[in-house]
Amino acid sequence: LRPHIVAGNWKMHKGIEEAEAFVRGLERTLDSPDRSGLAELLEEDLLEVLVYPTALCIHSCLISRSTEMVKIGAQNGHWEEKGAYTGEISISALIKEGCDYVLIGHSERRTLFGETDEQVAKKVASVEALGGKAMVCVGELLSQRESGETFNVVRSQVEQALGGRSSDFVAQRLAIAYEPVWAIGTGKTASAQDAQEVCSYIREVVRSLMPNAADSVRVLYGGSVKVDNTFDILKERDIDGLLVGGASLDLEGFTGILNEAY
Ligand code: 13P
Repeated sequence: LRPHIVAGNWKMHKGIEEAEAFVRGLERTLDSPDRSGLAELLEEDLLEVLVYPTALCIHSCLISRSTEMVKIGAQNGHWEEKGAYTGEISISALIKEGCDYVLIGHSERRTLFGETDEQVAKKVASVEALGGKAMVCVGELLSQRESGETFNVVRSQVEQALGGRSSDFVAQRLAIAYEPVWAIGTGKTASAQDAQEVCSYIREVVRSLMPNAADSVRVLYGGSVKVDNTFDILKERDIDGLLVGGASLDLEGFTGILNEAY
């Protein structure tokens, strides 16, 4: 069985104090005796729980933890180690600082900030070279879904993100989050069947590129995930976890999803 991942993407929300309080609260919840099932899964490496705070809050979240039950990721990073790149933070610095994951190619990065598949590929390569873990987002726009291009779009994004990577890296240190753009922040969730269909397709694309990694690579779903749809989505065979936006901002909401799921 593939270890699951439940990640909260906080996007541009929360200041330092609020972020630290959330991490401590989440840690307490995961550690509490009535949630021993969750703690066991974490201990046995069958589940990873992580949050992606803003860059400003990463360091304080990392040092406010008393265990490593809650992992901390970065929402973005630059592939160069250092240099004249005003406003950027290097993946190298993030990983050295202790970031557990780097989120790459989120649809908001792609659509609002013009991030390209080529840049996504450089970021993924940088994470591999530095020994970190990457979570790559892929997904189609509404217009692409309506014109029947979903599979082509997703295939091309996966092929470009994974091109040149080793199958060990993809199997062990990479997760792919399928986030249909039309389902992000809209309250419209893909049906569990639609999500399964695309996630299974993503696994087949990985199989065609690197057969040894396909059964191990984690494929997550994201887009208007909430307590009510958690169970249905996670029961699908090729969905190995969730990338949660809005519903991860509030501790009760996020722990509610974890409780519903495990
Ligand atoms: P929502 O859960 O708010 O739809 O956001 C999904 C997302 O973009 C997570 O990365």
